Amino acid sequence: METQRHRLVLIPPPFQGHLTPMLQLATILHLKGFSITISHAHFNSPDPSNYPNFSFLPLFYDLSDTNITSKNVVDVTATLNTTKCVSPIKESLVDQIERANINHEKIVCVIYDGSMYSIDSVARELQLPSIVLRTTSATNLLTYHAFVQRQSKGFPPLQDSMLSLDLVPELEPLRFKDLPMLNSGVMQQLIAKTIAVRPSLGVICNTVDCLEEESLYRLHQVYKVSIFPIGPLHMIAEEDSSSSSFVEEDYSCIGWLNNKARKSVLYVSLGSIASWEEKELTEVACGLANSKQNFLWVIRSETISDVSEWLKSLPKDVKVAIAERGCIVKWAPQGEVLAHQAVGGFWSHCGWNSTLESLCEGVPIMCQPHFGDQRVNARLLSHVWKVGIEWSYVMERGEIEGAVRRLMVNQEGKEMSQRALELKNEIRLAVKGGSSYDALNRLVKSILSVNI
Ligand code: UDP
Repeated sequence: METQRHRLVLIPPPFQGHLTPMLQLATILHLKGFSITISHAHFNSPDPSNYPNFSFLPLFYDLSDTNITSKNVVDVTATLNTTKCVSPIKESLVDQIERANINHEKIVCVIYDGSMYSIDSVARELQLPSIVLRTTSATNLLTYHAFVQRQSKGFPPLQDSMLSLDLVPELEPLRFKDLPMLNSGVMQQLIAKTIAVRPSLGVICNTVDCLEEESLYRLHQVYKVSIFPIGPLHMIAEEDSSSSSFVEEDYSCIGWLNNKARKSVLYVSLGSIASWEEKELTEVACGLANSKQNFLWVIRSETISDVSEWLKSLPKDVKVAIAERGCIVKWAPQGEVLAHQAVGGFWSHCGWNSTLESLCEGVPIMCQPHFGDQRVNARLLSHVWKVGIEWSYVMERGEIEGAVRRLMVNQEGKEMSQRALELKNEIRLAVKGGSSYDALNRLVKSILSVNI
């Protein structure tokens, strides 16, 4: 008799920082013996040829604005949870359940991204076990819970104290100014809905116990479902990982790094959504030039359409410094860059993926949070793990030069570098047989136990 295969359906949103960890999770669970289907949006979609073992099901949502920016990301998220997107997902799941029966398979679980909260009720309706993947820190999730709790108790909204350096009593060591800016009604509703989901099998957090032990404990208390801290996903998937970049990576920068001294290069990138205005870019160029450090700088094509024209507008000494000590690319192979021995620091927007990728390579960070969870991550980096520089965040060349030198030249930066190496080792131990390894095995057991 043919045995029934176990298939997982994973549903990511079309955002780079969410799709990548979902594909890494898929890779890990495939290695554990599950068949994999990725139900994804028809834009910003993964390249199936990079994942020959997975089935890909593009879903054609009627979304007009598909170029994701910091200005529209909240509205796109809201739309992803409306009927026009949820109905195609539901129809596709019904269809997949029928086809699985014919193919001697069983859909044993739906794993959806935290931003796609509407799938929770779809899974319930179809009686499919479900799990949510959270791609931010556990500490950030706690801020969402605190926000909703305060609202229900009639406290003044958290965003009224957004500039305050006071500690938030229930979220120490976070200060009010470290909290995510939930400053629109749409955003507040999204947050309330996203934390209301109670997937039947629990919550996967892309984090590590040694980084967020206390927050994970508190999260378990508020969620009251199983929490699986299985991270960093990119590290666990490492042996069998493929590129999930929407944009082609420019590998020429690796050749450039090969000619640079150990730990002499600052890598500068704001991830896939955040960006600087043109006048801020000029301050960054001047600050980097004046710092006298080598730098590899990602300037995405949406940030500035013609980089060479903009370069011409810079002062002569800055142009010379960029030619001598700088390398500018549109999109870098970030994993390889951070692992390169020439990289000694990362000027980052503190997106959670970038944060984890940097920690795993023992690279300290000059923080520059923009929106969402990034201010929480910056506080963890600078205050809790002590591997990140908090500075004025004023986009002025002198301030920038000072912060770069603190990280790359001063004793303070050297001490951070040492601590970053210690953390890197702790994280490796968690993956190799420690907490993340145990949580992954617990997850597999849990999926199989409801599907005997
Ligand atoms: N990334 C990359 N090349 C770049 C810039 C970013 O591959 O030039 C990747 C990075 O490795 C990370 C993701 O894009 O996996 C960005 O995710 P993150 O959570 O840091 O930030 P977001 O883009 O979601 O704001």
